[in-house]
Amino acid sequence: MKLVFLGTSAAQPTENRGMTCICLVLEKEILMFDAGEGAQVAFHKAKIGWNKKMKILVTHLHGDHCVGILGLLQTMSLQSRTESIDIYGPKGIEDFLAANLKVLNFGLTFPVRIMTIKEGLVLDDETYTIHSVEAEHSIPAYSYVFEEKDKPGKFYPEKAKEIGIPEGKLWHEIQRGKEVIVGNKTIKPADVMGEKRKGKKIGISGDTRPTAKLEGFFKDCDYLTFDSTYSDELKEKAKENYHSTAKEAAELAKKANVSNLILTHFSTRYDDAQILVNEAKTIHSSVIAAKDLLEIEIK
Ligand SMILES: [Zn+2]
Ligand SMILES: [Zn+2]
Repeated sequence: MKLVFLGTSAAQPTENRGMTCICLVLEKEILMFDAGEGAQVAFHKAKIGWNKKMKILVTHLHGDHCVGILGLLQTMSLQSRTESIDIYGPKGIEDFLAANLKVLNFGLTFPVRIMTIKEGLVLDDETYTIHSVEAEHSIPAYSYVFEEKDKPGKFYPEKAKEIGIPEGKLWHEIQRGKEVIVGNKTIKPADVMGEKRKGKKIGISGDTRPTAKLEGFFKDCDYLTFDSTYSDELKEKAKENYHSTAKEAAELAKKANVSNLILTHFSTRYDDAQILVNEAKTIHSSVIAAKDLLEIEIK
């Protein structure tokens, strides 16, 4: 599993930063959070795969977070994609996409399903869940949390052989957490496997002020990407525009016991995000600035 940042700029692109788009690339699926204009260009560069199973989750309907869906769908059609795409977003997402798909006469080569979300459980997959919560922005906006379900422990084939479990179907079953019977003995998964591995929790703030609600929502995240539009000097501007400063992001991350904070959504005035990292680091010990095409391996 890896996080891939396809765009890290706020409101408008710069020479080095595209519009907001973050992909969580799982083994069998891509979860894309927001798709600002030009998302398909960065998607192409990142070589994530045009036909891989995919869902797009939109935080809010500001253009820099959703206009890129159109270009992405069009390029995917030209790439002859066949796999369907599910798109989730706040009220209005359906109107926005349906109207554009109709007017532009897209000729999609794959099915697109559009779902309007509310606060709460958005997705309950076999291996993960995604929840949403209302953020505090100038228009209705959501933050998302991805939580991987706990994974079975490491399987020790030598132990299985020692106990006498024949290789094949029974190995498969016990690895999936089922007890198996060999001869007259019942063998538990714990006899041949290590401790369950705790799933990872990853938070995506979208555009928002830091709020107590978000602090609870992002509690104990392994990784949190958070709105860091401004430096501390512009904290009043951050309030006015319903964004956060890097320092505010770090304060929230610290209170929420987040392990690793990733700053993103930078105002165009910061060519170099180091000033934002430095400010955040006065509060939280593990901070990095996202940049376009940055990949973070989640282990
Ligand atoms: Zn934005
Ligand atoms: Zn916004």
